[in-house]
Amino acid sequence: MSLVNSTAAPMPLSSLAQFDFQPRVRLIFDNGASMRTGELAREYGARHVLLVTDPGIVAAGHAGRIQSYLEAAGLDVTVFDKADQNPTTGTIDRCLEVARPHKIDFIIGLGGGSALDTAKGCNFILTNGGRIRDYWGTGKATKPMLPMFAIPTTAGTGSECQSYALIAEEKSHAKMACGDPKAAPKLAILDPELTLSQPRTVTACTGIDTITHAVESAVATKRNALSLMYAHEAFMLAVASFPQVLETPRDIQARGRMQLAAAFAGIAIENSMLGAAHSAANPLTAHYNVIHGKAVGIMLPHVIRFNAEDPIARRAYAELASAPELACVSEGEDYAVEMLVSRIEAFLNLAHIPRSLTECGVKESDLPMLAEEAARQWTANFNPRPVTQHDFILLYRAALEERPVT
Ligand SMILES: [Zn+2]
Repeated sequence: MSLVNSTAAPMPLSSLAQFDFQPRVRLIFDNGASMRTGELAREYGARHVLLVTDPGIVAAGHAGRIQSYLEAAGLDVTVFDKADQNPTTGTIDRCLEVARPHKIDFIIGLGGGSALDTAKGCNFILTNGGRIRDYWGTGKATKPMLPMFAIPTTAGTGSECQSYALIAEEKSHAKMACGDPKAAPKLAILDPELTLSQPRTVTACTGIDTITHAVESAVATKRNALSLMYAHEAFMLAVASFPQVLETPRDIQARGRMQLAAAFAGIAIENSMLGAAHSAANPLTAHYNVIHGKAVGIMLPHVIRFNAEDPIARRAYAELASAPELACVSEGEDYAVEMLVSRIEAFLNLAHIPRSLTECGVKESDLPMLAEEAARQWTANFNPRPVTQHDFILLYRAALEERPVT
């Protein structure tokens, strides 16, 4: 429940965008739900399934179990188990090599966001031909695509609820967001038991990514009444559960709440987009191999303080902070924003994420190059305060020196 004081000024109507919402992804949330994968795939007409996963998920035993459920339902299964942490056009090519000799009519992505995005990327080319670059943008697939299930084993990207795949160019590592309503999974199986196998660093970095998704989608220029509902709920779930999954990793209730937070934040992004923390993070991943969750986490406090100079954004942050009662809007918007930043900084400390870009190997002399790339990121267009290349230099410098930016 929001604690917005009834005497506070209502949110200006102009800050809420129109929307056109069609739920695309069926969600099943239950401990052990993944055991139903075989029967559910049959229900959707599968005969020969391409199972896309990664070596860590194979080692954890999840891939073998899902394969056995599919085979027990009488389905043929071809496995691609080499999804990379940051999928590239090369990853997609290798996945296609495995898939093409078979009559694949169904795709299942099993793993973190990278496995799910690899499955989506492969689906584009298998069904519509060409190269990944051809699908960069929205709605470029003209032919039908194969039905897909998403079975996330992390609580992070929310890719299971999205129609976009993030695939990097093999050489430049520039990220291409390829989206099409047909690429959205038909069904996401949210089985919290699958997330118990995450190493602590994965839990920490994916959790920070989820929190950043909730925060950025709650203030993005495309936010609307519906995306806000999902962003606020995701934020409330994550605030309550993120410390628990780090302190007591086998707490299945907390794991379930984080998994829902990730999925709901994914729906919020699909309907609202992201902002400058993600724009600034992508070049850090491309040039210094900084893990995505770590990169967005380092940048987020600086981006919040920068955006909060804008009155409408400040109000949106204050309302987000009031959702899990970090602060009440009636206590003052500036205070609520500071409470939001300080809680995020506490989460970064819990996650053992460094607070300075210096610790990631970034040098002052690199900032103009990074800022030029950040300003070109698609997500920068949706930041609630206009953000220029010069602003990105200030944001990076603040993160380098770990001091607030104005
Ligand atoms: Zn992210």
